[in-house]
Amino acid sequence: MNNDSLVTMMFDNVLLQTEEYFPSYVYRLMQFANFMGARNFLDLLKMSSARQIGETLPRWAVVLATQNYGAEKFTQILDNNLLGRYWRSFIEESELDQFVAQQRSKRATGRVLFNAEKILLPFQSIKLCPACFDESVQAYGVGVWNAQHQAATSFVCHKHQQVLLQRPVSQFSGFEFSQSFFDRDAYVTPNISLFHRWLDFEILRIYELGVEAHRDEVKLHKRVFMESSFYSHKPCSTSVNLNKQWRLSLSKYLAILYPHMKNEAERISSNTGLQASAIMNVESSVHPLLYLLFKFFYLHEFKP
Ligand SMILES: [Zn+2]
Repeated sequence: MNNDSLVTMMFDNVLLQTEEYFPSYVYRLMQFANFMGARNFLDLLKMSSARQIGETLPRWAVVLATQNYGAEKFTQILDNNLLGRYWRSFIEESELDQFVAQQRSKRATGRVLFNAEKILLPFQSIKLCPACFDESVQAYGVGVWNAQHQAATSFVCHKHQQVLLQRPVSQFSGFEFSQSFFDRDAYVTPNISLFHRWLDFEILRIYELGVEAHRDEVKLHKRVFMESSFYSHKPCSTSVNLNKQWRLSLSKYLAILYPHMKNEAERISSNTGLQASAIMNVESSVHPLLYLLFKFFYLHEFKP
């Protein structure tokens, strides 16, 4: 059996479920192909490096989804299995198309879709609703990790009104073969605050509005509030004041959202990639978590 038919056989035997998170599906494929070592498995799927999971649209996912489901079904996979319905409204369609084309070509490197996501990756967790897990075991015979739950701003399963269990992506060391991905005991229940719930509410709004309408809202918001006369991209006392207040608030927000990572929250919030000027650019895309935190800051905390 050649490599291509081996891959086809795996995809035919282990079916991707409608709302399954794509990286967790790869772990299921690995489980199926446990007769081969991790390195061989990754080579077979042409996943050259064991990248950290949790990136928005990594090259391996673009290549794998295109190869096995075809270009027509790609958007469907993007929306259902890679959280496209969540993040597509934060980026122009043309910018996304260009990114996908680059990821498909061999020239692509370790680019990420949103500039800030590499900086924010340490805060990213894989999340699990035990009730959804049990339901998927009953329905499909396997535990399925729900894609929508993996949004950076998702903390609650709205179907079951349960706080999502979390496990930092840093614990998975990419796709090195590990059965422990499926170890439910390794997940912890976080204490969530009203602030977590507000972010969750904002996500539901995004889903309710739909990609197009929410994209218009993000643009409107940037035009009216975030690129206003209050702020100049040139260095001036207003920008210095804004950046200073924003840095302190961002550190506070991250510490509330991720209480187990207080030190990182302070360190990362001074990263230049997260500065107000990087967010307040009407022309460029913005990471969903940063956008929502900045929106909260601008509307409720900023003192010009
Ligand atoms: Zn659930």
